[in-house]
Amino acid sequence: MLTVIRRYTFRLYPNKSQTSKLFEARRLHCYLYNAAISHRKTEYQYWSKSVTYLQQQNALPAFKECWPEYKKLNSQTLQATLKRVDLSYNRFIKSLSQKPLFKSIRNYSGWTYPGHSGWNALTEGKHGQVRLRDLGITIRMRGQAKQWGTPTTLTIIYKPYLNQWFASFTVNIEVPNRKFGSDSDLKYESMLSIDLGTETVLTAYNGQEFLEIENQRFTLRSQKKIKSASKKLRRKRCPNYQKKIKASKRWKKARKQVSKLQRKVAEQRKNWQHHVTTDISRRYDIVVTEKLETKKMTRKAKPGSQRKRQKAGLNKSILDVGFGTLNKMITYKIEAKGGLVLFLPTRKIKPSQRCPNCGTVHKDWANLSNRYHVCNHCHFENGRDKSSVMVMYNVATYQQPGLGTHLEIVDLISSTSKNRKHTGSMKQLGEMKRQKSQQNQKSLGHLETPTSQKLG
Ligand SMILES: [Zn+2]
Repeated sequence: MLTVIRRYTFRLYPNKSQTSKLFEARRLHCYLYNAAISHRKTEYQYWSKSVTYLQQQNALPAFKECWPEYKKLNSQTLQATLKRVDLSYNRFIKSLSQKPLFKSIRNYSGWTYPGHSGWNALTEGKHGQVRLRDLGITIRMRGQAKQWGTPTTLTIIYKPYLNQWFASFTVNIEVPNRKFGSDSDLKYESMLSIDLGTETVLTAYNGQEFLEIENQRFTLRSQKKIKSASKKLRRKRCPNYQKKIKASKRWKKARKQVSKLQRKVAEQRKNWQHHVTTDISRRYDIVVTEKLETKKMTRKAKPGSQRKRQKAGLNKSILDVGFGTLNKMITYKIEAKGGLVLFLPTRKIKPSQRCPNCGTVHKDWANLSNRYHVCNHCHFENGRDKSSVMVMYNVATYQQPGLGTHLEIVDLISSTSKNRKHTGSMKQLGEMKRQKSQQNQKSLGHLETPTSQKLG
């Protein structure tokens, strides 16, 4: 059996006294978060020292002596809050995000129980209750999980604009383990290759026929309504906490209207995504697709670029479809039934530039406006997206001319292999530093040591 991790979120229905306890815990966690940031800031400003996570964790007992109200909270949740600070500082150090700021209680979401202790999920996957031992409360919750397993972590979330509480569990689920190879019980007939695009959202090929799904353009359809609603919002008196101006009642009402419309678009998109991905995962065991890098794809146009508007439009339509979510949904749905998702390395295979018939790589096919491809080598012709899914299908079935006959050759990455990017773990940070220092040593050695010159 293979274990996969899924996240399930249930809405909580706390009563009055439970709600006030939840709010208090949230407030304490928010203060701790801000205290940890302030600690790091002052240490750096006045003594130019950087504080590590471990130092802050070791300071927790002393902190609790000063602030006895923290004693009743689960100590692992306090550590998890410090870890949040550490994660955002790590992202900042790697220049992946901006400098961590103090968080206002207004947009502080909640806290996490990182382990098994301190809570119980009294549910079989449908409705039930959650017990938070440190607060001494058992809250009713509502929701349904497709597959329930062993819950491992719990995050309590408050959404201010909804005034609702949620419990988000990560759950370990056992799925049947099947291997991809000659002795496998997965058949090639149930394999599908998928390409995601902006015009035709999804082009797929199963060896015999093509499947095409057009872009629904959810945002575009309701954009007019959202625009006029946000225009109304701008004309109302908005809050300014520094100048101590409160939001007007009309502003609050108008904001509710805007978020309602935005939520509707999001729900429509999600619903559609679930329909598409469930359909695919029911019919196919193996899905072959490209490794997507949505972050890079939706990057802003370079300053001074003449194609700024086009790039903005392309970004909007990529985000409208929700490429990342589609890929994730397909992956977890296929995994849950014991299937396999294969990510092909785009740069090596070049599916959109390679002729599926003879394997010739055409550089001029890279132009996105070129939507129909004719091979000048073997006169094979097909739509761009169609020929690219054909290439992917051929690669996965060892049939593609011009490429090796084994999947190992193209560095195949399957969804079950661990290749996620972590930004936070201490281990990774250490590894990066070591690499850097080794590189420095190498380059220095190359420049300065006489032995290297002799060798060169
Ligand atoms: Zn050709």
